[in-house]
Amino acid sequence: MAEPKTGKCPICQQPAVARYRPFCSKRCADIDLGRWLSAGYVIAGGDSDADEDGDDPKAPGETETKPSGT
Ligand SMILES: [Zn+2]
Repeated sequence: MAEPKTGKCPICQQPAVARYRPFCSKRCADIDLGRWLSAGYVIAGGDSDADEDGDDPKAPGETETKPSGT
């Protein structure tokens, strides 16, 4: 899918306005939103990647420094 970097409103193909990017106006933004809603867009939330690796293997013990004296 080639997505236009900047410029054209996906709704009416008119030059987009920064304020309503990527749309040219609030109207087109609303139209797009309406499309999504009417299309019955469902937010996919089935794949819950609960891969938490909170296990931190700590080094056993500390390195004891022996005082080198006489
Ligand atoms: Zn537009």
